[in-house]
Amino acid sequence: MALIKCPECGKEVSDKAQTCINCGCPLAQVNPAGTVTVAVNGPGMVKMYIFDLTTGNELWCGRNGEVARFNVDNETEISVIGSMEKRHPERGAKALVRGGRKYEYKMVQSFLGGRYVINEIDVLDSGR
Ligand SMILES: [Zn+2]
Repeated sequence: MALIKCPECGKEVSDKAQTCINCGCPLAQVNPAGTVTVAVNGPGMVKMYIFDLTTGNELWCGRNGEVARFNVDNETEISVIGSMEKRHPERGAKALVRGGRKYEYKMVQSFLGGRYVINEIDVLDSGR
């Protein structure tokens, strides 16, 4: 465990803390490293991939309905994409993710039709 300085009050707090114990300032923004959780809720049984768009590295591979977990050292731009397009990660749904946060990949409907997005969520659905 390392100590970091709270940007709000200047007191030293654990880098594992979500908020400063002294003033309540959210610290996940200060320390973006850690485990990212993504509930991958796309269609069908196709194989799915998560890529780091900056490095091109594959961070996770699995299937729709699974929960992806991977570690990041910093704020990371990711792309979630199916196996048919895995050579073109830039075509997938993109998001900036941080360690300790949870996200959901799913389709949203709009007047333009369905498209896939990655949204930050507070809790995963029960059982996952
Ligand atoms: Zn503080």
